[in-house]
Amino acid sequence: MDQPRNVFTVDLEEWFHVCASGVDALAADNWERLPSRVDLTTRLVLDLLDQANVRATFFVVGWVAERHPRLVAAVRAAGHEIGSHSHLHRKIYELDRESFRADLRSSVSALAAAGVVSVTMFRAPEWSVNDRSLWALDVLAQEGIRVDASMAPVKLVGSPDYPRYPHVRNTDAGPITEVPPLVADRFRQVMPMGWGWGLRMSSPRRILRTIEAANRAGLPAVLTIHPWELDPQPPRVKLPARLQFAHYFRLSGFGRRLGEVLRHGSFGRIGDMTPISGT
Ligand SMILES: [Zn+2]
Repeated sequence: MDQPRNVFTVDLEEWFHVCASGVDALAADNWERLPSRVDLTTRLVLDLLDQANVRATFFVVGWVAERHPRLVAAVRAAGHEIGSHSHLHRKIYELDRESFRADLRSSVSALAAAGVVSVTMFRAPEWSVNDRSLWALDVLAQEGIRVDASMAPVKLVGSPDYPRYPHVRNTDAGPITEVPPLVADRFRQVMPMGWGWGLRMSSPRRILRTIEAANRAGLPAVLTIHPWELDPQPPRVKLPARLQFAHYFRLSGFGRRLGEVLRHGSFGRIGDMTPISGT
């Protein structure tokens, strides 16, 4: 099989891992009491990937790995690779160095208990490595993380000035490769094309065209989804307007559209990409 030209990633988390500070119903204290949907929805993701013969990179929340080790094993058994999506899904810029390090280590321990012996990839909740938390890259490198996929080149959560392609960043503890998600210039702004509302609202044709344009420039496109985006019966909670949009906008038919993108594109794991040279 040809080497995949693009990357497909999944942030493996519960539907209530939405960083909705101020929404008491979804506070961490309540997580044990909320209905779990992660097993059902992740298996839908696994089916979609299997049908399209795509191997992906799954960033797993440690809290989920602790409770669903067999699900983590099923993901690995299907040939996907595993990274950390933090332990308690807290935004990095709301932590300090040591609390971030502790959270990262908890997630790595939870993944180890679920059978993942080496964790070298990380994605922050809500793209929360940005100008307020660049110190996190030092902590990640110190803890043995070699690939970070947390910096979004869009205004709302990152910066349109961040590179749109995989690149190497130097830290206190050596280089770390940053793998940003796919964006596109539309409506006179930079929009998320590879994830969230942008991915859900765009037709498969438009997504595939944007991916091809990146590939023509010699760059991989990075897509990412959450299992809860495929939930046939998503639990509803009242969220602040921005999160409401990010979480619920155009879920209907998403699985079918995504399947089309997966079948017609060329996708693989981050680890399948050729080593990225320094910038
Ligand atoms: Zn997340």
